[in-house]
Order: sequence, then structure tokens, then C-alpha cells
Amino acid sequence: MRETEAPVLAASYFDGTHGRAQPVELQRVDEDLLLRGDGFERRIPAGELQWPEPGLHGVRVLHLARGGAIQCADGAAWDTWARASGHRPGLAVRMQGSWRWVLASVATLVVLAVALQRWGLPALAGLVVAATPVSVDLVIGETALASLDRLMLRPSELPPARQAALRTAFRRVAAAQPPGTVPHWQLEFRGSRIGPNAFALPGGTIIMTDELATMFRDDEPVLMGVLAHELGHVEHRHGLRLLVQGAVLSGVAAVVFGDFSSWFAAAPAALGHASYSRAAEREADQASARMLNAAGISPLVMLRFFEQMHRRRGDSAGSDGDSAWSGISIASHPADAERIRLFRAAAGSR
Ligand SMILES: [Zn+2]
Repeated sequence: MRETEAPVLAASYFDGTHGRAQPVELQRVDEDLLLRGDGFERRIPAGELQWPEPGLHGVRVLHLARGGAIQCADGAAWDTWARASGHRPGLAVRMQGSWRWVLASVATLVVLAVALQRWGLPALAGLVVAATPVSVDLVIGETALASLDRLMLRPSELPPARQAALRTAFRRVAAAQPPGTVPHWQLEFRGSRIGPNAFALPGGTIIMTDELATMFRDDEPVLMGVLAHELGHVEHRHGLRLLVQGAVLSGVAAVVFGDFSSWFAAAPAALGHASYSRAAEREADQASARMLNAAGISPLVMLRFFEQMHRRRGDSAGSDGDSAWSGISIASHPADAERIRLFRAAAGSR
């Protein structure tokens, strides 16, 4: 391309040492830029040109690597001149302008978020939990119990003798375990609006509702299995894990998605919660089966638990909000089948 054929554009030149702009004519020569001003001419090598990105309106500023800049107030004229001169915008700019690239980027982000959620997050939460002293679990557990007592639990109406008997029975189960495998625990009873249920708080406090103790009034081994399941949650520190995952997730979502966090974070959070819960329940069931075996109780007793809960769900289907509460009794029916298989297998391997 001969110099005279390349289009010319009027612009202002700041040389980087003097504050005043000098009017110049720009012309692209090969890949370089030729400046012609009043009594001077400069040829700036392609490598020193930092081309501005095309946009809708406004001033274009081309920065020069060795200092100085070239400015053009008419953005549209600049873009036309740059295109006609054969300048191609950078890769990132071309990508931004293409909806296919935008879609691909969003899809990639979603895949990354889901992958992080599935594999990265549990690993990260595991590290954080391992590095957290157990005293933190205790404080969280106490705080949680205080608010549960305020919001949804009532003092137990179970006779103290019955409470003591259940504590003694579970102490026997714990004593039958290999030394050093049983975490600190303490058993509390509460009346509730959550029906027959049991749950473990971080730090080892296990709450059993009066309704559950009453439901299995004559079937203590089942209650031992339920308590062992809860102790499994304590052993694996599932409560703290859940909190850490939630905290990490909202932090990551805020960084990755910025203002859209509330919208974007909801989906992966829901996903992770569900899959995490299933894995945690399986771990707690395994712990329960192991502890029952060690205490000389067949894990098959838990079949009676699932049977009773199933019957109760059938009776009260759609009538109370029981299933929204995520203690031990919540489980969709296919999940029940999987859990029953686990206890059967554990009984068979005695
Ligand atoms: Zn559980």
C-alpha cells in the first residue's frame, strides 16, 4: 500500500512532555502510524501503538508506549478511518461484539460454577472444617439451640426417668464402640412443632423430640439407631460443613456474578445443598449401622424406623408441614429405598 492511498484523519497529538495538543494528520503506513504536524513528521512503529477500542460515542485516545497520546473527538470518524486503514480490533473486542461469544462465555461460567460446586466446594469446605477447632462447633451449636428454643422448640414433657433411661441406653451403645471413635455428645429432649424427629447440632448436642421418643416407646433399638445416625453427623461435623459451604458459596457468587449474585447463586446453591445432604445422610447412616453392629444391635431395626415414618407420611400427606423440616425423618421415597438397602447390607455383613 502506498502512503498516498491510505486515508487521512485529523487528530490532536500530545507528545507527553508538553501539555498542549498539536493538530496532526494521521495516516497508517503498513502497520505503523505516520503523524504529520506543523513542521514535523513522526513515524511510530506498530509495536508502540495502543489502539483504542471501538465504541458507540465519544473520544478515542490512542496511547503511545513511549509516552504521549493521540486523541480524536469524533469517535465515529476515528472508527471509520481505522477500519478503512485496515486496522483490526483486538480479539477481546471482536468477542465482546459477538452474541455467540457472549453465550459461550455465560455457558462456560455456569459450567465452572457447577463444577466448583460439585467438586471444589466440598474439598474446600473439608479443609476449612479440618482447620477449625472443635470449640467453634460448640459455640455454633449453643447459639443454634438458643434460637431453636425461641423459635420452634418447647421444653420436653417426657418424664425425667424416661429421659435418663434413653441416655443410659445410648451411653451403652457409645461404650461398645472402639476407643477414640466416639465424639463428645449430649442428649437433650424437646417438645416441638416438627413432629417425630431428631437432629444433631455442631458440637455434639443431639435433640430428640418427645414425639419420636413416644412413637418408638416400645422399640428402644430403633431410637438407638436414630441417635447413632445423629452421632454420625457429629463425627463428620456435617453441621459446620454446611455452614462453611454456604458461606464460601455466597462469597464466590458475589465475586463471580457481582450484582447478579442473588439470581445466579440460587441455582448452584440449591444443587449443592441437595447433593451434599444426600452424601451426608449416607455417611451418617453408615456410622449408625457400624455403631449398631458394634453394640450388638442388628442394623435391620432401622427398617422399622423407615416403615413407621413411611406410614406416618402416608397418613398425614399434605396435611402438615413436617416434611419441610430436615431432621432425620425427611427423605423422599426413592431415597428411603437406598437407605434401607444400606442398613440391610450392613446387617448382612455382620
Ligand atoms: Zn441425618
